[in-house]
Amino acid sequence: MKRIYQGSCHCGRVRFEVEADVDHVRVCNCSVCHKRGALIHRVPEGAVRLLTPLDKLTLYQWGSFTGEDYFCPECGILPFRRPSFPTEEEIARGVKPFTGWAINTRCLDGFDAANSPVKSIDRRNTPIEDVRGSFERNRGSGALDS
Ligand SMILES: [Zn+2]
Repeated sequence: MKRIYQGSCHCGRVRFEVEADVDHVRVCNCSVCHKRGALIHRVPEGAVRLLTPLDKLTLYQWGSFTGEDYFCPECGILPFRRPSFPTEEEIARGVKPFTGWAINTRCLDGFDAANSPVKSIDRRNTPIEDVRGSFERNRGSGALDS
């Protein structure tokens, strides 16, 4: 059942709300997700209300440079990210771009991330090519990573 969750980083500098039925979490094994250990849930564009402007967060990009990982500059927690855009080869295979947010469910107040059903995402063996500038990013795309 959908409900509104309050979300924040550790120090509270970054706050957001998300309306979602968080019925599972995603665990991705790509190089950055593996080290980060976040439990992700994807929601549509309109499900997130930012209470802290994005420009107050630190942006990290890597690989295809189409994903956007947002961190609190004070405490270093990643509350959410924008998944990367599929490569041309993946689009040809039928991978659909994702338009929305990937929320770190560990940042949601009152959500028991550790006891949620896990969906494993295998990205370890998928080469991530550097495709900077090879297409225009359509806001909220990406199916490559969490
Ligand atoms: Zn913080």
